[in-house]
Amino acid sequence: MLYIAGRWVFPHGDGVIAVENPAAEAVIGSVPQGSAVDVDRAALAARDAFLDWARTPWPRRQELLRSIAAALRESGEKTARTITSELGMPFDACLAVQALEPASILEAYADEMDGIAWEHDIGWSRIVMEPVGVVGAITPWNYPLYQIACKVGGALAAGCTVVLKPSELTPLNAYALIEAAEKAGLPPGVLNLITGHGSEAGEALVRHPGIDAISFTGSTVTGRRVAELASVTLKRVSMELGGKSASIVLEGADLDRAVAGTIRSCFRNSGQSCSSHTRFLIPRRLEGRIMSIISGRAGEVQLGDPAAHGNHLGPLVSGIQRERVTRYIREALASGATLVVGGADPPTGFERGYYVQPTVIVSLDPNAQIAQEEVFGPVLCVIPYDDVADAVRIANGTPYGLSAGVWSATPEEGFEVARLLRAGEVQLNGAPFNIRSPFGGFGLSGYGRELGRYGIEEFLAPKAIHQSFADLSHADSPVIA
Ligand code: NAD
Repeated sequence: MLYIAGRWVFPHGDGVIAVENPAAEAVIGSVPQGSAVDVDRAALAARDAFLDWARTPWPRRQELLRSIAAALRESGEKTARTITSELGMPFDACLAVQALEPASILEAYADEMDGIAWEHDIGWSRIVMEPVGVVGAITPWNYPLYQIACKVGGALAAGCTVVLKPSELTPLNAYALIEAAEKAGLPPGVLNLITGHGSEAGEALVRHPGIDAISFTGSTVTGRRVAELASVTLKRVSMELGGKSASIVLEGADLDRAVAGTIRSCFRNSGQSCSSHTRFLIPRRLEGRIMSIISGRAGEVQLGDPAAHGNHLGPLVSGIQRERVTRYIREALASGATLVVGGADPPTGFERGYYVQPTVIVSLDPNAQIAQEEVFGPVLCVIPYDDVADAVRIANGTPYGLSAGVWSATPEEGFEVARLLRAGEVQLNGAPFNIRSPFGGFGLSGYGRELGRYGIEEFLAPKAIHQSFADLSHADSPVIA
């Protein structure tokens, strides 16, 4: 079913999309293949609801966001099981990152609403922050509910209404959000759900004249297409795209921590994270020592059944993704890179499921394909550098600019390098992610920011109301010479 204007409705057509469990290679459910007709109904419902929602006092919107977050927390375990079965991320990590973190994101948005300057004066003009309108939210499969929360939370906080189109590979978790919104009492039409393919439902959303803004997370290739289509109706667009992020270890840093932290970042969610640190830049002088630490640590990473407890890695999301990742590994080795651990061969004992061996490759050429393109699998590319200037040049030497890491002996040294990196975020010495700070990229990693105050402001536009001098008190009146 689709969710439009506060009701579960049948789609216009009878097409369905099967949802597969990538560990079992078995179909576990299906969702409607939404069409342009369904998108039109959802866009109209969101438009009908817009003015009332935009005029709802923001403390009430804040309260509703908190209630949705509470409902998401309550259903967290069930949602984590759903995501584990459609994505293949092991349950424990799934519960923390994929099911409960979305609730924390909504709570953080609610908290940050206190700090928004909803109205302020510039001279005799009152500046009122207005929601940008009806938002089309298009999300990927790798952190499905998390990405949805990033968009929907910011948009609802700002006073926008939303038509959500989740990934066709992992659409089941989106229903958890709708159920939470219903439970919280979100007014009809404020949040609508259309499932479907990107080429049909996604494009219809981007083309629709009743949609004012598109918030897109996905691949750079699709992002380009979305930006092109959105330009016809001059929609505002924000883009959270791919990455090829570097982790730089400086001489003097704790090498054990740097290796462990970089491997954790790279292999998280089986390497299917946009902000993974997939290039490990190491001082050439320390190559021998660092490589022996890497071989040990990477060799300890285990594959396993995603339904089981533990910190192992699950399969990739699909057969297509497995084929793509193993092709990257084969081509890298054929063009001169060195294999340290793993490889393109199927892992032993995992005949069923789209598993790929955790793999580490050394590339002496920072411009090689494996060192430049987003692989989106458990593949770490180690690149030696000569000096810090060389490391910064290599780190900034891809078309992307999403994330980076610096490992240093002192915070000052780390900061100095961080300032030189063209990335939307930099982690110093493995600092944890902060859901209240802005997240987004430079270059082919996209534009626009999500999370916290910046993630709300993305959906706001200033309106100036100029006040007549006669109506202003003497103190406020401009001095006319
Ligand atoms: P994708 O681009 O294939 O699909 C993303 C979404 O776009 C899906 O909902 C899909 O149905 C839709 N879509 C596809 N074609 C469309 C079209 N022509 N018009 C409108 N919508 C369309 O990406 P994916 O494979 O789902 O996700 C993986 C990618 O997402 C990776 O490149 C990853 O780096 C990126 N990503 C980025 C971030 C970030 O915040 N920067 C976060 C997560 C994932």
